[in-house]
Amino acid sequence: MNKSMALKMAIENATPISGVTTEIFETEIQQTSNDIIFDASNINFCVGPCKSKEPEALAITLGNNTKLYQFKPYSGKRYLECDYPLSNNFSLIIKNYRICKSCNDRYMELYDEEDFDKLIKDGKNICKKLNI
Ligand SMILES: [Zn+2]
Repeated sequence: MNKSMALKMAIENATPISGVTTEIFETEIQQTSNDIIFDASNINFCVGPCKSKEPEALAITLGNNTKLYQFKPYSGKRYLECDYPLSNNFSLIIKNYRICKSCNDRYMELYDEEDFDKLIKDGKNICKKLNI
């Protein structure tokens, strides 16, 4: 039984004389989510579940002055955020990241297929990779 359930049962079994226990319960349910937020602004390798921690190669400048980047987004900018579930009720949120094409494709496909088991596995592997 988790802490909030134990507390709820204790409150349900308590005689409602004073407002004190109610106050405790309200604090408990206002608890914010336990998502892990990771800012990848300074990470120069793919933050996806692949094994590679090789820094992204320098962009190649093409004849018409456009640059060709190794990772996505190909503009050279950073994606705002992605969400890898770590369980049914909390996630790893990665902000400001760059990612290799194969990890990005996999992320999109797993969400398309609603394959949350694999997404959770990937999320856990990313935690290990990023030492979270
Ligand atoms: Zn990758």
